Amino acid sequence: MRYFTMDEALRSATALKLGIDNTPTDEHRRHIEESIILCLDPLRGEWERFCERNLLGKAGIVISSGYRGFRLNAAVGGSTTSAHCVGYAFDLVPSNGRMREFKRFCREWFATHPFDQLISEDEGADGLPRWMHVGFRNRDGRQRRQLLSMRRGQYYPMS
Ligand SMILES: [Zn+2]
Repeated sequence: MRYFTMDEALRSATALKLGIDNTPTDEHRRHIEESIILCLDPLRGEWERFCERNLLGKAGIVISSGYRGFRLNAAVGGSTTSAHCVGYAFDLVPSNGRMREFKRFCREWFATHPFDQLISEDEGADGLPRWMHVGFRNRDGRQRRQLLSMRRGQYYPMS
């Protein structure tokens, strides 16, 4: 794993605050490693090059929410079928704050890479999300290549 660490994928302010143990099972740990190696790390490397080419500053990607074991997921009100609960989904934000470019970049990058869901989450009137949800696999392992926008709790084809 090059850019992302297991720690970063497990970290949760809510879990700390509520004293919830967010340790993954061995199976879920393998899912997280698979997602980082095959998806998040390559995405991150290409995002850095994209930002350099386009003079968008030094660019990283931060995991704002990664693995959510079932107790943590319940505590944050996440969907019970969420891929976050099995280590296959991650909420990402660009460290340089360039959300408009990051959304477009993710969409273009995933056009040629395997994934299950890319969701532009909690979009405002300006079409900008608060974060990008990347699901590498569905809970059953599928990769459905869904592109969605979420506005006011409803899902639409990605705008
Ligand atoms: Zn998510």
